[in-house]
This record gives sequence, C-alpha cells and structure tokens, in this order.
Amino acid sequence: MEPPAARSAIEIDRTIRPSGIVIQPDIPLCQTDLPLDWYQEEFKSYAEEYLALPDRKPETVLPWMDSYIHAALEKIGSELMLLAHYYMGGEIVKLVERYGGHIADSYQLARQAVLHPERKIFVESAVHFMAEAIALLAGPDQQVYITNPKSGCTMEMMAKGFMVEPVFEWLQGRYGDDLVVVAYMNTSGRLKALAGQSGGAVCTSSNAGAIVRWAREKGRRIFFVPDEHLGRNVAAQVGIPTDRIFLWPGGHEGAELSAESPPSQKLSELDRAELILWGSFCGVHTVFKPEHIAYWRERGYGVVVHPECPKEVVDLADASGSTSFLWKHVLDASSGSRIAVGTEGHFVRNLREQAGQRGITVAHLADVPLPGLGSQECGCATMSRNDPPHLVAMLDLIHKDQAPDLNRVLPGDMVDEVSGWRERLDPESRAEVAAQARLALERMIEITEAARPARR
Ligand code: SF4
Repeated sequence: MEPPAARSAIEIDRTIRPSGIVIQPDIPLCQTDLPLDWYQEEFKSYAEEYLALPDRKPETVLPWMDSYIHAALEKIGSELMLLAHYYMGGEIVKLVERYGGHIADSYQLARQAVLHPERKIFVESAVHFMAEAIALLAGPDQQVYITNPKSGCTMEMMAKGFMVEPVFEWLQGRYGDDLVVVAYMNTSGRLKALAGQSGGAVCTSSNAGAIVRWAREKGRRIFFVPDEHLGRNVAAQVGIPTDRIFLWPGGHEGAELSAESPPSQKLSELDRAELILWGSFCGVHTVFKPEHIAYWRERGYGVVVHPECPKEVVDLADASGSTSFLWKHVLDASSGSRIAVGTEGHFVRNLREQAGQRGITVAHLADVPLPGLGSQECGCATMSRNDPPHLVAMLDLIHKDQAPDLNRVLPGDMVDEVSGWRERLDPESRAEVAAQARLALERMIEITEAARPARR
C-alpha cells in the first residue's frame, strides 16, 4: 500500500470536462468490425450478437448495448468509472460519455483513481499503458480493467521493458550515476520505474520541455525513452545542439545493440551526447510532412500539430502541443477560422464536428489529394481495438462477477499485443515497480508545478 503522503502529492485536480460530442442520429457508430477470432473466448458470444446486428446505426446498436449496460450500471454504477482516450475510434468516446464516463488525454486518465477514491472499478477503453498508468496510482481497493488487453501503443511496443532494460544497464555501466531516465507517459510501468530508480521523471508532451530542462540543469546525461521525435522537438525547445543528441535504435534492434555495444566509431558520439533518444515512434504522427503544411497554408489554413510529429513538421506549424492543447486551441479560435490539425484521425474527426458548430473549419493535415501524401485521416488502429462488444462484454462480465483476469491491469504487467499473452510480476517486484514509477510520476508533477509560474 502506498503511504498517504505519496498519494496526496499527485492530487492536483484538473477536472475532466464533458467533450460536448454528441451522437448524431442515423450516422454509423462504429469502425470496421473486428473478425470474431480477434475476441478473447469470454467475449465471443457478445461479439457474435454484435456482428449479427443488421447495421451500425445508433438506433440499432444503442438498444443492444443498453440491454447489457443499464443492468451493469444499476449494480456497479456508483463504484464504476468509465474512461476513454480522445483517439478512440468507433465512436466509443461518444458511447462512454453516454454511459456517464469521461474522455481525456493520457495524463488526465492516469490521475483518475487518485482523484476519485470513491470509485472502485475503472474500465478503460484505450491502450494498455494508459490503463497501467491508472493502476500505478490506484489504491489497494481500486481495480483497473482494459476492455481489450491487445490494444497497445505502437510506440510502447517498440520500447518494451525487455528491450530497454539491457540498454539502460549497459549505459549505466558506462556512465554510472551521471545517467538519468526521462520516460514519456507512453511507456509501460517498468520503464517509468527505471526513471524513478535513476532519479529521473516521467514526462508528457506538454511538460517534456520542463522535465528535460530540469534534468539538464542537474548536469545529468538524459536517456529519453521514447519517442525520438518528441525528444528532438524538446531538444530544440531547451537548446540541446543536434550534435549532442544520440539516436539509439528502437525495438529489438536497440536491445541487441546493447549486447555488442554501439560500433566503436559511434562510441565517441555517444560519449559526447547530452541526450540519448530511444528510437521508437508513433506510426500515426509520423505520416505528416512539410508538403502537407504547404498544401493547407496555400488555402489559408493555420496549422497545429502534436509534438510526436517529425521536427521538420513541428518547426513549420503555428503551434504544437498535447491532445488537450490541440482540442482547446481549435475550439478557442474565432468563428471563421480555418485550421489543419496534425494528429490522430478519430480525434480530428470529433474535433471537426465540435468546431463546425462554432463556425470553425477543421481539416486533417494529411487529408490532401496529392499523390503519395494522402493518408485518409490515419487513426490509431491499435487503440480502436476497443469496440462496442468489448465494452459491453467487459461491463456485463464485471456485473456478473466473472471479469476475466486477462482484462485486469496491474503495475508491471507486460502484454504481447499480438497473442494477448501476459507476463505478470510477483507481488514483491510489482510493489517495487509501482513505487519507483510513482516516484517518477510525482517528480514530474513537482517539476511541472514548480516551472508553472516561470512560464506565466
Ligand atoms: S496515436 Fe501513436 S502514440 Fe498515441 S497511442 Fe496510438 S500509436 Fe501510441
């Protein structure tokens, strides 16, 4: 159990506001159906019913969902908190709010167990690291479930603990206490724990600059895990020269390199580096190119992007920032504004609907009729593996006290997103991971709050 003081340190409430997104009648609710064999055994009967529905219109899908979810809410509603990320496709964001849940970015999601001690069951429709972040901060009487454990973040999938840990050990062997880990929110609890253990911190896309600046002021060599694009964008923001950045390959390639060490001609570059970037990235945010920006500028659009986009794109945009920043930036624009947004496609589509009601025109940055450049509003496909039958099944099985253990999320869990296989730590190791990861999260909040007045 975490000490009360540790929990109070993270209680800085930024209440989640309703998104304002509404379900339009007669508009299909859901993304492309998943094949039946993509559902875990316990969920298959629900999926069969769903797949047999004649269409995906709200008038058809909602009564089917209601028939299960209302009964579940009646029994567990006062203890339950339903959560979804803005990037969820299949209109899950609309459904989750309809059933009293909340939509948020990963940072806001992570704090919900702490902010709502009266809630005991958290059901999340988003990727696994986000559910694990809630679990890291949850109390012993709170349970966290993910509607589909195979829903992973591709960036995190290229930075699993077993890939990064040997590299960290190798780097620590070379640089000792000089090395500090800054772990992006899009990492597993095991990597957040590495940050805690090394005296480092977690960061989000909105506070990464403050965290890297803090580490740099301490004169530490920073191992930034992941992502390489956010890392480069932050390096530019805080003034780290490009020749002081070393890119360590992501995925299995990076892990293998630590067994051999980087080739000798690279070692001098590594020794000079202030910032070592773990080379994983987001497939959704790396589709954007300077040509997309040029296309929309020529048509009178402003451009805002997420900092997981490549640096040459961020450099050309009017502004860059987190999911919450982009949402607010666009909806605060004056009526008549035209803005192209470079981030996940489902989010942009929902934002476009909201902005349209305020007279603001929104385009997806990569939605251009140029050969080889159109991406059809690329969405986060892995996150969208949480579809209506997953939500229905999860809630119905919890209601019947039959929730599958595979959907329960505990600190330190490592899931193979292809097979669904999970490695769970023993209680002692889990407690250690949770303690170190919480330390890194608390440091992030302290540093962010301390930096806040200076930015005003
Ligand atoms: S959009 Fe990219 S970074 Fe975000 S969850 Fe999906 S894969 Fe991960």
